[in-house]
Amino acid sequence: MGEARLETGVHGHEIYTYDYEKALLPGTDSGAGMWRYQRLLPRPDEPTMYPLPVGGTPLRTTREIRQRLGMRGLWLKDETKGPSASNKDRATALVIDQGLRTGVGVISTASTGNAAVSTAIGGAAAGIAVVIFVPVDCAPAKVEMMAAMGAYVFRVCEGYRAAFELSRRAAAHFHWMDRCTGLNPLTIEAKKTASFEVWEQLGDRAPDVVTVPVGDGVTLIGAAKGFQELVACGVAAKVPRLIGVQAQSCAPVAARWHGTPVPAQWPGTVADGIEVPEPMLTDWTIDEVRRTDGDFVTVTDAEILDAVELLSDAAQITSEPAGATSLAGLRQATATGLVSPDETAVAWVTGANLPSPPVRAARPGAVFTISAGLDAVAFALAGTPVPVS
Ligand SMILES: *Cc1c(COP(=O)(O)O)cnc(C)c1O
Repeated sequence: MGEARLETGVHGHEIYTYDYEKALLPGTDSGAGMWRYQRLLPRPDEPTMYPLPVGGTPLRTTREIRQRLGMRGLWLKDETKGPSASNKDRATALVIDQGLRTGVGVISTASTGNAAVSTAIGGAAAGIAVVIFVPVDCAPAKVEMMAAMGAYVFRVCEGYRAAFELSRRAAAHFHWMDRCTGLNPLTIEAKKTASFEVWEQLGDRAPDVVTVPVGDGVTLIGAAKGFQELVACGVAAKVPRLIGVQAQSCAPVAARWHGTPVPAQWPGTVADGIEVPEPMLTDWTIDEVRRTDGDFVTVTDAEILDAVELLSDAAQITSEPAGATSLAGLRQATATGLVSPDETAVAWVTGANLPSPPVRAARPGAVFTISAGLDAVAFALAGTPVPVS
């Protein structure tokens, strides 16, 4: 049972498939949190060695937030409750779980910030060295946190796309495990478990609508795959309409969907967790939204900050701007009639910024600012415990 196959999907990216049947869904003997769904994950049906708890996040609502949105069926999937306070923790856990089983020494990733913080914390807990590539304008507090967790951090002057390319090349060249979001198919497998949880939390039922912040698109694709697999297993009737939400000041996927012009340069947004000018999975993300009869909406920074405040005031959830875009998007979607007030809608609240890490690093890491190039990486890491040959 739970035999996973790795195939090349229609968009040219690797994707796992299974022989879907009801028996793959959790039984009483299943693990805790995300591992509860391990028969629909590409790993052996055995306890994980990953030391931090992950998944099993609350599905919450309050009367006040329902009133403020004018939605009787509003729910919040509170993904701010993981070890590093973002939904990246699911992906980190599944990748490091595999790394621990296969004896990996170094794990690396590119990130706008949160995937890197999550990987740094997960690596510190698991005793695996971590190398990070971020754009040079990555939030300084996040960079500090990564280094404090023992990670070696490269701030890449040419920006996120260059950091991403360099991360891929470095991982291949130096034989590190590559966690890159949108590239490692495990990240989608891990993120789909949030949909399984929502289905269970709603009483074995899929909601009508789901709103998800979109950066590279992994979270949305993962959410879609989770519901598709529930349908394939015969336990859910339908995949919810998926509404992808982007910040108006960095909305390349929404622009493609709506056929609106893409500016030469996006002005940038407070929602740094989803500030991805050249997303990895644009076509795939758009396809998933189309298949569910969904849509894309964009929200202004002011609307995003309103949603942050609303989550705090009306639902006692501390969210970072990226995490609250889903609620800002849902609010707009109800105002324009895209979502009707009596539908069951779940907003994915994906992150809270800067956790208090649940682990201490064995040794401090370091931060380097470089122009994208393998030589600079090898030079900086010489004399550290990270092998670069
Ligand atoms: C990464 C992230 C997202 C979604 O990004 P994708 O790359 O589309 O998966 C949303 N919110 C937060 C807080 C994030 O860190």
